[in-house]
Parts: sequence; structure tokens; C-alpha cells
Amino acid sequence: MAHQSNDAAAEQRRRFIRSLPLADIHRHFDGSIRPATLWELSEKYYSAVPGLDFEQFKHYLSWDDSLDNTLLDYLDKFHVPLQYTQFYDNIRRISYELAEDAWNDGIRLLELRINPLIHRRAGLTTRQVLAATRKGFATFRKEHPEFQVGIIVIAMRNHGGNMARILLREVLGEKEEFHDDVGVIGFDIAGHEAPFPPILFEDAYALATKMGLKKTAHAGESEGPERIWEALDRLGPDRIGHGTSAGQDPELIKRLARDGVYLEVCLSSNLQTGAVASLAEHPLPRFLDAGVKVALCTDNPTVSSTSLSREYELAMETFGLTEGDVRALARMSGEGTFLAEGFRSSVAAGA
Ligand SMILES: [Zn+2]
Repeated sequence: MAHQSNDAAAEQRRRFIRSLPLADIHRHFDGSIRPATLWELSEKYYSAVPGLDFEQFKHYLSWDDSLDNTLLDYLDKFHVPLQYTQFYDNIRRISYELAEDAWNDGIRLLELRINPLIHRRAGLTTRQVLAATRKGFATFRKEHPEFQVGIIVIAMRNHGGNMARILLREVLGEKEEFHDDVGVIGFDIAGHEAPFPPILFEDAYALATKMGLKKTAHAGESEGPERIWEALDRLGPDRIGHGTSAGQDPELIKRLARDGVYLEVCLSSNLQTGAVASLAEHPLPRFLDAGVKVALCTDNPTVSSTSLSREYELAMETFGLTEGDVRALARMSGEGTFLAEGFRSSVAAGA
């Protein structure tokens, strides 16, 4: 009987979450591609992995329980898609499908982040990569005009600060304000934290500010709170990607709350990369209690074998959040958007 009532409670949670307009403002292009699409492209053009069936192929794309919880095992899942995402039509199609998957999960506002440089190996330019992404999104928006979407450009930490500045200059013409529909709204750094601290990107963030871009930065995912302090002091970000280790530092939590800097929290991803040892230990409830702005996000639905609605379920199950808590969290997540006023949906307006 207990089992049945648990099922009923889980079903009630799912129904409630499905009734909310959701926003995902931390999602990576490469980690969100449909396995079926990559499989189809593989069979049609590339014969990339001969001898594998679809189930085995998926193992190369998505996290499962057989893996260690480390960032390196997690990042390993990003290698296979790269051979398919070097071509305009593939990027356009994947972007369209990514919008459709988000929409079907109840997402009405999506910020998709992409590093154009790693999609240029077959000769595309940075702007062509972004144009393909915009095209896929714009086509989806013609069918669903109420779907709001923007692009965040990522510089890889291991490419260094100079490359980050070059990348920023290349994307100027792709900014939201120069396009009717979808464009670049923000800047981010991602990748291995330890050898590439925030200080290396101080000039790049100053340039992003000059260019009128909003800024986020992955920090405190595999490194301690000192890297989050450094990111705040050196880069002046509007949001921090993950910021999980802030949970170890009450002063930092106070600072984040005081300055209204958002944390983009991705529960499953944090567990899989080892940023937290268990979901129960995740600092999300402490962030919320302290008044830190939080956006609940997915990071990488395909790599993490999750969806945004599933992440909301996890938050409810793990932390005992009420429907009121979840409604507030969903609204706050939308309000953290970098989309300019005219581009925002009712999600960001707090509907
Ligand atoms: Zn991320």
C-alpha cells in the first residue's frame, strides 16, 4: 500500500511540474543532442562506430550507473557527438530538435550555450556555427512563437584568455540586438577549472561587458569556493554556473545573496561529476534559505540522462520542497534570464 501511495505522490508531483512554465538557462548544445539523431547521422554518412547497435552507441553519449562519479568520465561523453556537429545542416537540425525537446518537456524559455570553436573542424566559421543554431531555433519559433530562446557563447578555459577575446570579437555580429529573432545574449567560460583560473579571463570579461553581453561563468564545480570568490571579484558575472562548492563557505553564500548573483544549479550533473557525494548533501536548500537567487537547470539532458522536469522532481523528492517552493523556484529560474526585455516570455514575467 505504501508503495502505491508513493506512486500516487510521485504522479501528483509530475502532474504539478508539468503544469508550470519552466525555464532552463544552463544547457549545453553538445550534451543535449538526441541519441537517435546521432545514430541516424552515423548510419547515413559516417559509419563512425561499425559493429555497434543503438543501445551500445548510447553508452558513449549518456551517463549510467556503471561510471565513476568524476568530471573526466562525464566529459568523456562529449567526444562522439563532435564528429557530427561540424556541418551547418546538422547543427541546424540539432538546434531545432533541441528546441522541440525542451518545449515537449514544458520549457518555455531556453538559454542554450555553445562553444563555436569546437564545431569548426570542417571549415565552418564561428558565425556560420552560430547562424546554423539561430536558424534551427528560428524555424522552431515560427511554429511556436511563445517559445523564447537565446544563445550563450562559451569560451573553453583550456583555450586561454586570448582566444576568449578573439571569440568575443567574432561573435559581435551575432548579438541578439542585430537579429529579429534569436541571437547571442551572453558569455561563459567552461571546462577544466583547476589549471585555468578566472584571473586568466579578466580581460575577456571586460570585453564582454563592453560589448553589452550578460555574463556567467562555470565555477566551483570541481574546485573549491575560492574559485567562486575569484570569479566574482575578477569577472563580475551576473550568474555562476553550478557554484556548488559555495555550500562550504557561509560568507560566500552571504555575498551571493547580497549581490543577487544567480547560481545555475544542476542536480544530476553535480552528482555525476562528483561535485556532491549524494543529492541529499547538495547545498540547494541552504542557498534557498539564505536568499541566494537560484535557477534550476539541466546542464546536459543527454549526457546526464535527465530532463528539466525530472530535475524538478528530484528537487521535490530530495529536499521535500512544497508546490509553493517549486512554483517560486520555477519563477526565479525564468527571472534569471539574459534575454532582453522584448524577448522574454511570460515565464520571466513571473506568470
Ligand atoms: Zn555546464
